[in-house]
Amino acid sequence: MVYMLKIGGQNYEALRRHGEETYPHECCGVLLGQTDGEGRIVSSVARCGNTRTDSPQNRYHIDPRELIRIQREGRERGEDIVGFYHSHPDHPARWSATDLAEAHWFGCSYVITSVEKGKAAITNSFELMGSDEGEKSLVDEKIDVAPSET
Ligand SMILES: [Zn+2]
Repeated sequence: MVYMLKIGGQNYEALRRHGEETYPHECCGVLLGQTDGEGRIVSSVARCGNTRTDSPQNRYHIDPRELIRIQREGRERGEDIVGFYHSHPDHPARWSATDLAEAHWFGCSYVITSVEKGKAAITNSFELMGSDEGEKSLVDEKIDVAPSET
């Protein structure tokens, strides 16, 4: 079954803007919300610092302590981690072999935004399918952007 990612316009714009702000380095962050019968519903996004200092323009890494804090704070609001996002400065919004190798949260969304010359271009989402590291894959999923609430 192929899920989709439902996200509000404000959160969607927030994760795209994050990639513009950190350009030419990759940004990264966490998507929090719920999973229902047809997909993952994002109710908040949490920015993370990219702890990769060796090659921040084409790698990202989220500090595990930061991730645990985000997870705990999310649970206090009734939210679970439903995905992750990062940017690809001047590269397509497709996952790389490294992205797949470093993706470990099965059933979560991995959102990638291409940032071309500092402007957010295409945003795609992929679900990490499979049940173990040996046969996992990232599969295209639809992003359903809801209009911003004011
Ligand atoms: Zn990547």
